[in-house]
Amino acid sequence: MIAIEQITELRHQLAHLRQERSNEGRISTVGFVPTMGYLHEGHASLIQAAKEQCDIVVLSIFVNPIQFGPNEDLDKYPRDAERDLALAKRLGVDFVFLPTVDSMYPTPTKTKVKVDEVTTLLCGARRPGHFDGVTTVVSKLFNIVQPDYAFFGMKDAQQVAVIQQMVSDLNFPVTIVPCPIIREEDGLALSSRNVYLTEQQRQEALVLSQSLCRIDAWMQSEEVSTVSQLRDRIIQHIETSPLADIDYVEILSFPQLTELGINASLQAHKGQAIIALAVRFGTTRLIDNRIL
Ligand code: AMP
Repeated sequence: MIAIEQITELRHQLAHLRQERSNEGRISTVGFVPTMGYLHEGHASLIQAAKEQCDIVVLSIFVNPIQFGPNEDLDKYPRDAERDLALAKRLGVDFVFLPTVDSMYPTPTKTKVKVDEVTTLLCGARRPGHFDGVTTVVSKLFNIVQPDYAFFGMKDAQQVAVIQQMVSDLNFPVTIVPCPIIREEDGLALSSRNVYLTEQQRQEALVLSQSLCRIDAWMQSEEVSTVSQLRDRIIQHIETSPLADIDYVEILSFPQLTELGINASLQAHKGQAIIALAVRFGTTRLIDNRIL
């Protein structure tokens, strides 16, 4: 495994390896896993998927300042490069790209990549500019790495929808591979931000995954058959936790992220709808979701 900070060096090394393999008569595909580090099993699952599907795996670790709002957790975002590098090595990553902020943004960015519509709801509505920061950095990383496949977690389902729209609109020659959400044994979706939770918040945060788990049972009972009934039931369950402060509970079409209408039948949208949650516990905002 090679860890690289410089953009030109990564480009050079990747081109060299691709050329070497091509001289041996082998076509090699590059799989790319972009992250902000502080790696956990969720990130590991993306790396494993990339290993299975691609010949060369590139992992990036970059806490991207332009996707954080002014009152968000950029400065305290957890970091542990040494542990991340050890895990990446164990998982068989070929290149870890760890650019500095100065090398990614040597001057204030005057060019932004902005996706409309799918960025205007859910987290996009609550975190102004967040997805512009994401699409701008992912475009830069795609241009630097030039992957054949890029792996993203459904934990950030709106991000998957936004990146897919961007790749389609801008003809990036990359296939986006969405990967399932990895959870703790008790159901909590893994996230680097879970370290901010106190023990009690961590325990109460289980209402998120529990409410997503109970959807099938609620739908089987006659009471829940429409979008608004399911939404009300989920809110009711989350509110059983005195620490939960709901940011949103939304049921939308996926991946288009359009409104379904409050009286829309859930049965009619099976496989094509997402239930997306964002809930604060103290100052920590957790997100979770499930495709219906
Ligand atoms: P982050 O480091 O939080 O920016 O996440 C990097 C990538 O890992 C994104 O594609 C996330 O969706 C994905 N990811 C984060 N948590 C999970 C999880 N629990 N399960 C699957 N993928 C995840």
